[in-house]
Amino acid sequence: MIYPEFTFKVTGRSAGKARTGLVRTPHGLIKTPVFMPVGTQGSVKSLTSDDLVILGAQVILGNTYHLYLRPGTKIIKKFGGLHRFMGWDKPLLTDSGGYQVSSLGLFHNDRRVHMATIDEDGVTFKSHLDGSVHRLTPQRAVEIQEVIGADIIMAFDEATPERGKNYARAAMVRTHRWLKESIKKWRDLEAKKKEQGRGVPQALFGIIQGGNYPDLRRESTDFVVEQDLPGLALGGGSIGQSNEQTSENLAWVRDRLPQHKPVYLMGVGTNPQAAVAAVLAGADMFDCVAPTRLARCGLLYTGRLEVSHVNIDHAQFISEHDKGRMDISQRVYAGDERPIEEACDCYTCQKGFSRAYLRHLFKAKELTYYRLASIHNLRMMVRTVDKMRVMIKRTNR
Ligand SMILES: [Zn+2]
Repeated sequence: MIYPEFTFKVTGRSAGKARTGLVRTPHGLIKTPVFMPVGTQGSVKSLTSDDLVILGAQVILGNTYHLYLRPGTKIIKKFGGLHRFMGWDKPLLTDSGGYQVSSLGLFHNDRRVHMATIDEDGVTFKSHLDGSVHRLTPQRAVEIQEVIGADIIMAFDEATPERGKNYARAAMVRTHRWLKESIKKWRDLEAKKKEQGRGVPQALFGIIQGGNYPDLRRESTDFVVEQDLPGLALGGGSIGQSNEQTSENLAWVRDRLPQHKPVYLMGVGTNPQAAVAAVLAGADMFDCVAPTRLARCGLLYTGRLEVSHVNIDHAQFISEHDKGRMDISQRVYAGDERPIEEACDCYTCQKGFSRAYLRHLFKAKELTYYRLASIHNLRMMVRTVDKMRVMIKRTNR
């Protein structure tokens, strides 16, 4: 299908699976591979849009589930969409709410409670805010995303829970049917916008599911590819699993994906190591809440990208700290005058804020801490991916 407002061009390849590309959206270009910070409720927690631009974010995410419940579509519509509401004029992506409502059926605040019921046509769920009952269907999820106005929107899907292969297949079949319905609604809305000369065109991505079963993943890939949408996404193997697995799942289906469409690994990028793995697996786009969430818990990334001159495909992220992050709450940092990471070019490290000062702010629960820490962790992610992008060999293909 020709979709002129949204294009993707591969600009380079490594000897392995990694590649670089350029996504064109109504709100500007995205150089891929790209890590996308998550702005759950219309804010990447503790940061302003300017902070995000300065740390190099090219595109951010909004969560349909959260924005639908609060502030609600009426308010967002009044502002003509989330871009204006939150003061972000670069590319924006929204998920469909599918993941949130699927997980609500299993967990809420880490307790096993029943907050959602999935049927063949959609999901009925209780709001985590006030217990009120709501319903999301493929059509409704697309309608809400049209109001939010993101450049890239996602088809409604069921995230696969850990319930065996039969359930994974049933969830996949449902997701495929919901994809068809999402497409129909999206086409209708796009045609209407064009006819009325209003709104911004949006690109719909389909989501490949099938859990951690290679045959289901392949079947799902073929189905989603057949729909010929502007882009494709890979849902996680199962709800709550380590997201490194998703990069592995990509290897199962990489050869079946069209070369000229962007591939988005959903929920991947817990740390710079995971970002390196995602890029090497061939991901063009990926997102994760972990960098900012970990920052707020006192866990700050350290380390650097090590690339052999001969081969980007052997790139590794090396850190002296366990899991590639320091726990700033530890007493050992109480008098430490060094920045978090000497070689880091983020605002926090460049300005010379010491580990001792950050530890003090963290202990005192000072609001400034959350901003300084989030800037550092996100910049570590963005810079790692930027460096890899530069090193992937340019081609004329
Ligand atoms: Zn830094």
